[in-house]
Amino acid sequence: MGINKTVIITGISGQDGAYLSALLLGKGYTIVGLVRRDGNIRLAGLEYLGIRDKVIIEECNLLDISGIIKLLRQYKPVEVYNLAAQSSVSASFREPIDTFHFNTISVFNLLEAIKRVDATIKFYQASSSEMYGRVNNLPITEDSVLHPVSPYAISKASAHWTCINYRESYKLFVCCGILFNHESYLRGDNFFVKKIITDSIKIKEKKLDRLNVGNVDISRDFGYAPLYVEGMYLMMQAEKPADYILCSGRPIKLKSIIEHVFSRLGIDNKYYCVSKELYRPSEIDEIFGDSSKAKDILGWDYSMSFESVLDKLLEENLKNCEK
Ligand code: NAP
Repeated sequence: MGINKTVIITGISGQDGAYLSALLLGKGYTIVGLVRRDGNIRLAGLEYLGIRDKVIIEECNLLDISGIIKLLRQYKPVEVYNLAAQSSVSASFREPIDTFHFNTISVFNLLEAIKRVDATIKFYQASSSEMYGRVNNLPITEDSVLHPVSPYAISKASAHWTCINYRESYKLFVCCGILFNHESYLRGDNFFVKKIITDSIKIKEKKLDRLNVGNVDISRDFGYAPLYVEGMYLMMQAEKPADYILCSGRPIKLKSIIEHVFSRLGIDNKYYCVSKELYRPSEIDEIFGDSSKAKDILGWDYSMSFESVLDKLLEENLKNCEK
């Protein structure tokens, strides 16, 4: 049964866009997904989840406010989820200016368009744990100090403060979901966990000699994307707009991820090799968060171990390799 409410999702072609679409379709929303005008439209995630025909796709350049205003007037959404971003930390070191430009100006345009067209439209911003960067105190909470250490993190921190400013200045309903790394089968091929899984399967099948990795002595807080998009939805249904951390609360060393996947596939640890050339110019050594606020206020309760996420992803990848 439809509830006859429309939401706009930017970045619908990405990992979170696909899972969020599936979640919101299940709740009866009409989904309008925005894709970039200049790109080849790739909607493999929506196709994989079997929902490609159930969403409306519109081309929109988020750097051009007039196109956003037109779509807000046309579709009259109740909520806008802004997931579009140059989302790779590594790529941001190669393309710092484009990353900063897109990840910040797109947010300004969306907020400004909402302010001008209909200030009751709720807005979700995909903020990132990377904003905290070089941290003194762990776990990270919503009140921790930001010290971004990559162009990506700087862009996300800037967009984050833009959102807070629009919430405080114009009383817009703006929520920033501060998400720690979350993974799934639909994760982009160049992201660490996805790459470890696909390359390890290739080693097992003797299609690849070994795995080359950068600094794997660092720790991150990883979770499972389909459960994280539920947190995004819950934030937008809360009585008041606020910012929330979504995380597993547990750090895991990148090295342990490789060793877990290798051991599941029966691959010896000698098949991965650390290459200093793959190190980033600056790096966060260890980071993990505390999602108590999301648990207490939204009832978002995450308890999956990352080893069980890895097992799930391995199984899904192996199944799809056989097809
Ligand atoms: P993703 O799979 O990389 O998807 C990013 C989306 O943004 C894609 O739809 C992509 O479109 C679009 N995009 C990128 N550059 C663009 C540009 N210049 N113009 C228009 N669209 C552009 O990312 P995700 O994992 O779903 O993450 C969703 C959001 O959460 C992102 O903002 C990301 O930074 C943030 N986030 C993610 C994580 C995580 O662990 N996944 C953690 C914290 C925050 P194309 O398909 O055309 O490239």
